[in-house]
Amino acid sequence: MPGKFACMAGGPLCRALESGQLSARELGRLNTPFGPSEVILRVDDAPVPFYLMPRQLPGGPRLGASQINYRATLYALKDLGVEAVLNWAAAGAVTHDLGVGQILLPSDLIDLTSRRPMTFFEKHGLGLLRQFPVFCPALRGALEEVLAELKLDFHTGGTAAVTEGPRLETPAEVRMLAGFGAEVVTHMLAPEVFLAKELQMCLAGACYLVNYAETGSRYRPFSTGELFGGLTTASQAERLRRVCQALPELLRRLAEKVASAERTCECHNTMAGHIHKDNLPEDWHRWFD
Ligand SMILES: [Zn+2]
Repeated sequence: MPGKFACMAGGPLCRALESGQLSARELGRLNTPFGPSEVILRVDDAPVPFYLMPRQLPGGPRLGASQINYRATLYALKDLGVEAVLNWAAAGAVTHDLGVGQILLPSDLIDLTSRRPMTFFEKHGLGLLRQFPVFCPALRGALEEVLAELKLDFHTGGTAAVTEGPRLETPAEVRMLAGFGAEVVTHMLAPEVFLAKELQMCLAGACYLVNYAETGSRYRPFSTGELFGGLTTASQAERLRRVCQALPELLRRLAEKVASAERTCECHNTMAGHIHKDNLPEDWHRWFD
Protein backbone atom coordinates (compact mmCIF):
# COMPACT_ATOMS: atom_id res chain seq x y z
CA MET A 1 0.00 0.00 0.00
CA PRO A 2 1.51 3.31 -1.08
CA GLY A 3 1.69 6.80 0.37
CA LYS A 4 -0.60 9.75 0.40
CA PHE A 5 -3.98 9.31 2.01
CA ALA A 6 -7.40 10.98 1.70
CA CYS A 7 -10.80 10.58 3.31
CA MET A 8 -14.20 11.23 1.76
CA ALA A 9 -16.98 11.64 4.31
CA GLY A 10 -20.12 13.57 5.17
CA GLY A 11 -21.49 15.02 8.40
CA PRO A 12 -18.87 13.68 10.86
CA LEU A 13 -16.06 15.32 8.90
CA CYS A 14 -17.92 18.62 8.79
CA ARG A 15 -18.53 18.52 12.55
CA ALA A 16 -14.85 17.68 13.21
CA LEU A 17 -13.85 20.74 11.17
CA GLU A 18 -16.49 22.93 12.83
CA SER A 19 -15.43 21.93 16.34
CA GLY A 20 -11.72 22.36 15.62
CA GLN A 21 -11.00 18.64 16.21
CA LEU A 22 -9.50 18.78 12.74
CA SER A 23 -7.92 21.88 11.25
CA ALA A 24 -7.44 21.88 7.52
CA ARG A 25 -6.36 24.21 4.76
CA GLU A 26 -8.82 24.65 1.93
CA LEU A 27 -7.37 23.95 -1.51
CA GLY A 28 -10.69 24.76 -3.17
CA ARG A 29 -12.11 23.13 -6.28
CA LEU A 30 -9.42 21.78 -8.56
CA ASN A 31 -9.86 21.79 -12.33
CA THR A 32 -9.84 18.45 -14.10
CA PRO A 33 -10.86 17.14 -17.55
CA PHE A 34 -14.06 15.97 -15.83
CA GLY A 35 -14.98 19.41 -14.49
CA PRO A 36 -14.11 21.01 -11.16
CA SER A 37 -13.62 18.67 -8.21
CA GLU A 38 -15.50 19.09 -4.96
CA VAL A 39 -13.68 21.26 -2.42
CA ILE A 40 -10.56 19.47 -1.18
CA LEU A 41 -8.81 20.26 2.09
CA ARG A 42 -5.38 19.38 3.38
CA VAL A 43 -4.63 18.56 7.02
CA ASP A 44 -1.07 19.73 7.67
CA ASP A 45 -1.37 19.55 11.46
CA ALA A 46 -0.75 15.79 11.68
CA PRO A 47 2.32 13.52 11.85
CA VAL A 48 1.62 12.66 8.20
CA PRO A 49 -0.42 15.27 6.28
CA PHE A 50 -3.51 14.01 4.46
CA TYR A 51 -6.43 15.23 2.36
CA LEU A 52 -10.15 15.51 3.00
CA MET A 53 -13.19 15.70 0.78
CA PRO A 54 -16.08 16.65 3.03
CA ARG A 55 -19.55 16.49 1.49
CA GLN A 56 -20.39 19.45 3.65
CA LEU A 57 -18.18 22.35 4.65
CA PRO A 58 -18.80 24.25 7.89
CA GLY A 59 -21.54 26.78 7.12
CA GLY A 60 -21.87 25.46 3.57
CA PRO A 61 -24.55 23.52 1.75
CA ARG A 62 -24.75 19.78 2.17
CA LEU A 63 -24.10 17.72 -0.94
CA GLY A 64 -26.15 14.58 -1.45
CA ALA A 65 -24.26 11.47 -2.48
CA SER A 66 -25.80 11.76 -5.97
CA GLN A 67 -24.57 15.32 -6.44
CA ILE A 68 -20.84 14.74 -6.08
CA ASN A 69 -18.60 14.88 -9.12
CA TYR A 70 -16.76 11.69 -8.17
CA ARG A 71 -14.72 11.54 -11.36
CA ALA A 72 -13.34 15.05 -10.95
CA THR A 73 -12.73 14.60 -7.22
CA LEU A 74 -10.86 11.30 -7.54
CA TYR A 75 -8.91 12.66 -10.51
CA ALA A 76 -7.92 15.71 -8.43
CA LEU A 77 -6.89 13.54 -5.46
CA LYS A 78 -4.80 11.31 -7.75
CA ASP A 79 -3.21 14.44 -9.20
CA LEU A 80 -2.28 15.53 -5.67
CA GLY A 81 -0.42 12.24 -5.26
CA VAL A 82 -3.11 10.47 -3.22
CA GLU A 83 -2.93 6.69 -3.60
CA ALA A 84 -5.20 5.47 -0.80
CA VAL A 85 -8.74 6.66 -0.10
CA LEU A 86 -11.01 5.90 2.83
CA ASN A 87 -14.71 6.26 2.14
CA TRP A 88 -16.38 6.85 5.53
CA ALA A 89 -19.99 6.09 4.71
CA ALA A 90 -23.15 6.40 6.77
CA ALA A 91 -25.16 3.19 6.40
CA GLY A 92 -28.27 1.42 7.61
CA ALA A 93 -28.15 -2.11 9.01
CA VAL A 94 -30.04 -4.57 6.82
CA THR A 95 -29.10 -7.58 8.94
CA HIS A 96 -30.23 -7.72 12.54
CA ASP A 97 -26.73 -8.92 13.46
CA LEU A 98 -25.38 -5.37 13.24
CA GLY A 99 -26.38 -2.39 15.37
CA VAL A 100 -26.21 1.38 15.34
CA GLY A 101 -22.77 2.62 16.37
CA GLN A 102 -20.97 -0.41 14.92
CA ILE A 103 -18.74 -0.20 11.86
CA LEU A 104 -18.70 -2.66 8.96
CA LEU A 105 -15.67 -2.84 6.70
CA PRO A 106 -17.31 -4.32 3.61
CA SER A 107 -15.58 -6.79 1.32
CA ASP A 108 -18.23 -6.76 -1.39
CA LEU A 109 -20.76 -4.44 -2.95
CA ILE A 110 -24.04 -4.43 -4.90
CA ASP A 111 -24.35 -1.27 -6.99
CA LEU A 112 -27.98 -0.19 -7.38
CA THR A 113 -27.23 3.44 -8.23
CA SER A 114 -28.69 4.76 -11.46
CA ARG A 115 -27.68 8.37 -12.08
CA ARG A 116 -23.91 8.50 -11.45
CA PRO A 117 -21.21 8.41 -14.14
CA MET A 118 -19.32 5.27 -13.20
CA THR A 119 -16.34 5.20 -15.53
CA PHE A 120 -13.64 7.54 -16.78
CA PHE A 121 -13.71 5.69 -20.10
CA GLU A 122 -17.17 6.43 -21.49
CA LYS A 123 -15.71 7.22 -24.91
CA HIS A 124 -12.88 4.70 -25.06
CA GLY A 125 -14.19 1.18 -24.58
CA LEU A 126 -11.72 0.69 -21.74
CA GLY A 127 -12.39 -0.17 -18.13
CA LEU A 128 -12.97 -3.94 -18.46
CA LEU A 129 -11.60 -4.48 -14.97
CA ARG A 130 -12.05 -7.31 -12.50
CA GLN A 131 -13.94 -6.38 -9.36
CA PHE A 132 -12.23 -8.82 -7.05
CA PRO A 133 -11.21 -7.81 -4.55
CA VAL A 134 -13.76 -5.00 -4.60
CA PHE A 135 -12.07 -3.00 -1.83
CA CYS A 136 -8.34 -2.79 -1.15
CA PRO A 137 -7.52 -5.53 1.37
CA ALA A 138 -4.30 -3.82 2.49
CA LEU A 139 -5.99 -0.50 3.30
CA ARG A 140 -8.82 -2.38 5.02
CA GLY A 141 -6.22 -4.25 7.08
CA ALA A 142 -4.59 -0.99 8.15
CA LEU A 143 -8.01 0.37 9.03
CA GLU A 144 -8.73 -2.71 11.14
CA GLU A 145 -5.55 -2.09 13.11
CA VAL A 146 -6.51 1.54 13.78
CA LEU A 147 -10.09 0.66 14.76
CA ALA A 148 -8.74 -1.94 17.19
CA GLU A 149 -6.28 0.57 18.67
CA LEU A 150 -9.17 3.00 19.21
CA LYS A 151 -11.30 0.21 20.71
CA LEU A 152 -14.14 0.80 18.30
CA ASP A 153 -16.70 -1.92 17.60
CA PHE A 154 -16.19 -3.15 14.04
CA HIS A 155 -16.77 -6.16 11.82
CA THR A 156 -14.76 -7.09 8.76
CA GLY A 157 -16.32 -8.52 5.62
CA GLY A 158 -19.82 -8.38 4.27
CA THR A 159 -21.78 -6.83 1.46
CA ALA A 160 -22.88 -3.22 1.17
CA ALA A 161 -25.77 -2.36 -1.14
CA VAL A 162 -25.56 1.12 -2.62
CA THR A 163 -28.81 2.86 -3.53
CA GLU A 164 -29.26 6.18 -5.30
CA GLY A 165 -31.07 8.12 -2.57
CA PRO A 166 -31.62 10.72 -1.28
CA ARG A 167 -34.65 8.93 0.17
CA LEU A 168 -34.25 5.91 2.42
CA GLU A 169 -35.44 2.50 1.25
CA THR A 170 -38.94 1.07 1.48
CA PRO A 171 -39.60 -2.04 3.61
CA ALA A 172 -39.96 -4.16 0.46
CA GLU A 173 -36.68 -2.80 -0.92
CA VAL A 174 -34.91 -3.67 2.32
CA ARG A 175 -36.34 -7.22 2.19
CA MET A 176 -35.03 -7.45 -1.38
CA LEU A 177 -31.57 -6.24 -0.28
CA ALA A 178 -31.55 -8.82 2.51
CA GLY A 179 -32.45 -11.46 -0.10
CA PHE A 180 -29.53 -10.26 -2.21
CA GLY A 181 -27.22 -10.92 0.74
CA ALA A 182 -26.56 -7.29 1.72
CA GLU A 183 -25.61 -6.65 5.33
CA VAL A 184 -25.86 -2.85 5.08
CA VAL A 185 -27.26 -0.23 2.72
CA THR A 186 -25.65 3.12 1.97
CA HIS A 187 -25.70 5.91 -0.63
CA MET A 188 -21.91 6.03 -0.83
CA LEU A 189 -19.08 3.71 -2.03
CA ALA A 190 -20.28 3.48 -5.66
CA PRO A 191 -19.06 4.61 -8.12
CA GLU A 192 -16.06 5.73 -6.03
CA VAL A 193 -14.65 2.23 -5.64
CA PHE A 194 -14.92 1.53 -9.39
CA LEU A 195 -13.41 4.88 -10.36
CA ALA A 196 -10.53 4.41 -7.92
CA LYS A 197 -9.69 1.13 -9.67
CA GLU A 198 -9.55 2.91 -13.03
CA LEU A 199 -6.97 5.27 -11.50
CA GLN A 200 -5.08 2.40 -9.82
CA MET A 201 -5.79 3.80 -6.36
CA CYS A 202 -6.52 1.85 -3.15
CA LEU A 203 -9.99 2.44 -1.71
CA ALA A 204 -11.55 0.98 1.42
CA GLY A 205 -15.01 1.60 2.79
CA ALA A 206 -16.03 1.97 6.41
CA CYS A 207 -19.81 1.82 6.87
CA TYR A 208 -20.71 3.34 10.23
CA LEU A 209 -24.24 2.32 11.08
CA VAL A 210 -26.55 5.23 11.71
CA ASN A 211 -29.90 3.45 11.65
CA TYR A 212 -31.73 0.22 11.01
CA ALA A 213 -32.88 -0.02 7.42
CA GLU A 214 -36.67 -0.06 7.30
CA THR A 215 -37.88 -3.58 7.95
CA GLY A 216 -41.48 -2.68 8.59
CA SER A 217 -41.31 -4.59 11.86
CA ARG A 218 -43.95 -3.61 14.42
CA TYR A 219 -41.30 -4.37 17.04
CA ARG A 220 -39.37 -1.33 15.93
CA PRO A 221 -41.90 1.42 16.48
CA PHE A 222 -41.45 4.95 15.22
CA SER A 223 -41.13 7.85 17.63
CA THR A 224 -40.93 10.96 15.53
CA GLY A 225 -38.50 13.71 16.33
CA GLU A 226 -35.45 11.51 16.82
CA LEU A 227 -32.71 10.77 14.32
CA PHE A 228 -33.99 9.27 11.07
CA GLY A 229 -37.64 9.75 11.97
CA GLY A 230 -37.42 7.55 15.03
CA LEU A 231 -35.28 4.78 13.52
CA THR A 232 -32.57 5.55 16.08
CA THR A 233 -33.07 5.88 19.84
CA ALA A 234 -31.22 8.29 22.13
CA SER A 235 -28.84 5.60 23.41
CA GLN A 236 -28.06 4.48 19.89
CA ALA A 237 -27.45 8.09 18.88
CA GLU A 238 -24.99 8.39 21.80
CA ARG A 239 -23.07 5.29 20.60
CA LEU A 240 -23.01 6.80 17.15
CA ARG A 241 -21.70 10.11 18.48
CA ARG A 242 -18.72 8.32 20.09
CA VAL A 243 -17.84 6.66 16.79
CA CYS A 244 -17.99 9.94 14.89
CA GLN A 245 -15.88 11.73 17.50
CA ALA A 246 -13.14 9.17 16.97
CA LEU A 247 -12.89 10.00 13.27
CA PRO A 248 -10.16 12.72 13.45
CA GLU A 249 -7.79 10.51 15.47
CA LEU A 250 -8.64 7.56 13.24
CA LEU A 251 -7.62 9.57 10.16
CA ARG A 252 -4.34 10.79 11.71
CA ARG A 253 -3.36 7.24 12.62
CA LEU A 254 -4.44 5.77 9.30
CA ALA A 255 -2.48 8.38 7.33
CA GLU A 256 0.63 7.36 9.33
CA LYS A 257 0.03 3.66 8.76
CA VAL A 258 -0.55 4.15 5.05
CA ALA A 259 2.68 6.13 4.74
CA SER A 260 4.78 3.49 6.47
CA ALA A 261 3.13 0.30 5.16
CA GLU A 262 4.76 -1.93 2.59
CA ARG A 263 2.81 -2.41 -0.62
CA THR A 264 1.02 -5.76 -0.38
CA CYS A 265 -1.97 -5.09 -2.66
CA GLU A 266 -2.25 -5.05 -6.44
CA CYS A 267 -4.34 -1.89 -6.73
CA HIS A 268 -1.50 -0.07 -8.50
CA ASN A 269 -1.68 -2.63 -11.32
CA THR A 270 -5.39 -2.68 -12.11
CA MET A 271 -4.86 -1.01 -15.50
CA ALA A 272 -1.84 -3.13 -16.46
CA GLY A 273 -3.85 -5.15 -19.01
CA HIS A 274 -5.03 -2.01 -20.79
CA ILE A 275 -1.57 -0.44 -20.65
CA HIS A 276 -0.05 -3.47 -22.37
CA LYS A 277 -2.82 -4.60 -24.73
CA ASP A 278 -4.29 -1.22 -25.65
CA ASN A 279 -0.99 0.65 -25.67
CA LEU A 280 -2.07 3.13 -23.04
CA PRO A 281 0.73 5.52 -22.10
CA GLU A 282 2.33 5.07 -18.69
CA ASP A 283 1.25 8.62 -17.75
CA TRP A 284 -2.31 8.17 -16.44
CA HIS A 285 -3.21 11.79 -17.29
CA ARG A 286 -3.21 10.78 -20.96
CA TRP A 287 -5.57 7.81 -20.62
CA PHE A 288 -8.65 9.99 -21.16
CA ASP A 289 -7.56 12.01 -24.23
ZN1 LIG B 1 -4.59 -1.36 -2.46
